[in-house]
Parts: sequence; C-alpha cells; structure tokens
Amino acid sequence: MSRSAHPAGPRHADVLPEGHYTAPPADLNALDPRVWARTVVRDDDGVVSVGGLTVRELAEEFGTPAYILDEDDFRSRCRAWREAFGADADVFYAGKAFLSLAVVRWLHEEGLNLDVCSGGELATALAAGMPAERIALHGNNKSNEEIQRAVEAGIGRIVLDSFQEIARVAHIAQRLGKRQPVLIRVTVGVEAHTHEFIATAHEDQKFGLPLAGGQAAEAVRRVLRHESLELTGIHSHIGSQIFDTSGFEVAAHRVVGLLREIRDEHGAELPEIDLGGGLGIAYTPEDDPREPHEIAKSLGEIVTRECESAGLSVPRLSVEPGRAIVGPTAFTLYEVGTVKPLEGLRTYLSVDGGMSDNIRTALYDAEYTVSLVSRASEAEPMLSRVVGKHCESGDIVVRDAFLPADTAPGDLLAVPATGAYCRSMASNYNHALRPPVVAVKDGVARVIVRRETEEDLLRLDVG
Ligand SMILES: *Cc1c(COP(=O)(O)O)cnc(C)c1O
Repeated sequence: MSRSAHPAGPRHADVLPEGHYTAPPADLNALDPRVWARTVVRDDDGVVSVGGLTVRELAEEFGTPAYILDEDDFRSRCRAWREAFGADADVFYAGKAFLSLAVVRWLHEEGLNLDVCSGGELATALAAGMPAERIALHGNNKSNEEIQRAVEAGIGRIVLDSFQEIARVAHIAQRLGKRQPVLIRVTVGVEAHTHEFIATAHEDQKFGLPLAGGQAAEAVRRVLRHESLELTGIHSHIGSQIFDTSGFEVAAHRVVGLLREIRDEHGAELPEIDLGGGLGIAYTPEDDPREPHEIAKSLGEIVTRECESAGLSVPRLSVEPGRAIVGPTAFTLYEVGTVKPLEGLRTYLSVDGGMSDNIRTALYDAEYTVSLVSRASEAEPMLSRVVGKHCESGDIVVRDAFLPADTAPGDLLAVPATGAYCRSMASNYNHALRPPVVAVKDGVARVIVRRETEEDLLRLDVG
C-alpha cells in the first residue's frame, strides 16, 4: 500500500466551513464501541480486526469495497431481542434491512420470525428453509402472484394494507381452500423519527388504514365478513430510527382503543397486537439507543396498562426490528483513491464505492463516522469529506469527518453501522458492481453474498 505524502488539507484549527461536526475526537485511532460491531478491535500494530481477522487480510482476499459482517454480533443481537421479549411475544426481523440465505438461517436458528415485503424476499426466506408459519408478508401493493405464493406456502400472517387487498386475499385464500391469518395495518396518527414524534396529520401517507375517520374499523368489518380470512390482530408501524418509547405509547393507546371497539361491536377480542419496528441504533457516538430488554419492558408495560384500563385481556405482542439487529453488525471497507485538499474548505477523500453501496447519506442526509483502519496514525486531525466515485456531486458517504492528515491513497477506511439499508438498497449506478457481504466469525471469513461481476451486468443486458 502506498502512503505518498500529499499537501495537507485544512486543520481543525483553521476556520471551519459549515457542517454537522463539533470538535475532532480526542483520539482518532480509538474505535467507539457504540458504533462498531462487537468483535472489532484495533490490534497492537494499529491494524483493525473483526472476528479475529484483520481488515488488511479481508481486503486482500475479498477486495474493496466490501461489507464485513460480524456473525457473533448478529446472533447475539437476535438472542438479546428474543430473550428480552420472552415467550409471550414474537420478534419478526424486518428482512428489508438486509436479507440473504445465511441471514435467514441465523434467524431461524436463533428463534426469530421474519417479515418480508416482496416476492423476492419471500422466495429468499423459503429457499433458506424458514418455516412459512414464521413469515409475515407486508406491503402496500402486493401483487396477486405474491399473495397467491404466500397463501399457498402457508405463510403465518399477511398484514392487510387496503380495502382492495382484503378482497384480493380473501378471494385467493378461498380459491385455494385456505383460511389465511391476517392482521390489519392501521395508521394511528403518530409518526416518530429519531428523538421526536409528531401526533398530527400522519395519516397522509401510503401505508395502512387510518384509525381516524373509521377506515380501520370498516376494514375490520370487511375482514370479518370473509370466511377465508382469520383476523388475528392489529398492526402499527410508526417510523424509523426511534430512540424513545413515547410514540409507541400513543400508538399502543390508539390500537388498544380499536381492540376495545372491536370487542364492543363484534364481541371478539383479537389475540395479537404488532407494534412494528423502527428502533434506533448509534450511527455516531452522539446517538444513544436503548437496549432490547429496556424496550421490551416499556412496550410490555404500556400494552398491559392500556389493556387493563380497557378491560381487555393482554394480547400477544409482536415487534419488527430490522435496523436494530443488523445495522450495527457490519461496516463497509473501502480503499482510498484520490485525495483532494480544498484550501479553506476541507479535504475530499474518494473511495472505491459510494452512493451505489450506501445511498442513505444522499437519500436521508444520514450521518456516519469513518476511521482509518489499515494502520494507526499519529497525524493531526484533518477535516474531511468521504465521497464515492459516482458521477454526482451528492455522492457523499460521510459528509463531515476528521481523519488523520496523512491519510493517503491505498489506505483502508471503514464506515461502521452499515449493516441495515445499505446492501439492501445498493444499486448498479454507473454500472457499479455491488459489493460482497463477508461474514466473519472465530477467525473464519465466508462470503454470504458474492461481489457482482461484469458478467452479471452483461447477462441482464440482452442486446
Ligand atoms: C421498515 C419496517 C420495519 C423495520 O424498521 P427498522 O427501522 O429497520 O426497525 C418493521 N416493520 C415494518 C412494517 C416496516 O415497514
């Protein structure tokens, strides 16, 4: 790896341009355990390793960019959720965060259930041997083919999202001679993101049936009219990257209100309530997520209290964490290419991937951290922006970062907390080849999703 000197970029002591940063961290070589996967350490020689393998070995064997996933961390997060919620609740991993055959097998072994929201995700789940009764199908526009495959397979639940879908699923189940368990997804008028929730007007979205105005209650009436549907519960999902439970509290209150109306109108107590996913993770050390056992305790207490005050027996609870399980378990490993100091601004460090492997910065203005991982450095902090190699000036991976001033072409950088919504949202923009996902555990690395090849690209292009 070459480490040629280059003109130093602006330092933190210079006038700083606009950005999301505060001061450079005290020690650029330190790896904050809040954002890195559990087995990540910087060894005595300064090289970072994960699962007992160094990033240099991993880059050599698998190339860059690559998503490196800590299997022990993934499995221990599954267990933490499973144990926190206990026998009276179900944990459905949200497959859209990241899904592969290996991931489905780990989930199965660790006793989790699985949410899918397309035919492709369903096919992956079934191909990996997840029992159909432990799978839930979501989506606001499921096709007849997707519904038919799910019902035929004996899927555990379909989460109904519209009046048309009630009729479609009922018709397909009837034709197949099945009685399909279903939940109704409602919008409770609460939307939560990060530290706050907003309790007005968020019925104005494509998902679910609004509680307000009675559409959800009407959906219940319609489902109950169909012999081929078995209504087992109500579902609500209020947002993503949420750090406190106040939004869930309002959601649970409103969902239980609907359960009480259902009992009063139809004389039936539904056995299930699903409060969705959306629990936050630490992308930067400022984020302070709660542990699964704290979340389980709060949600359990909220649902119990609401049911007691409504005079209902407590239904079985489901939750659907995606990001909170897979997000922290992986980092993206990149090699530095060009280094471009802009006087008075910052230094642009280009890596060999970009918005094709992590669209979240461009899409949501997401914040990430980044570290030099192929060696330690005592150089002073340099205000940097880590950018990709795509033809867009918005192709930014980490908007504001401090990296050692001697960071140079050939160095390896790693961006932590990229396990969720990075590989699953990856694209072929600029005919980029989507990176592999490499799982590491106990000193062994295994490709679980291989790198795309130019042959893969050309195979789709039939001329
Ligand atoms: C996206 C989604 C989830 C998972 O969200 P995370 O933020 O990854 O936990 C769970 N349930 C539903 C219905 C979703 O759409």
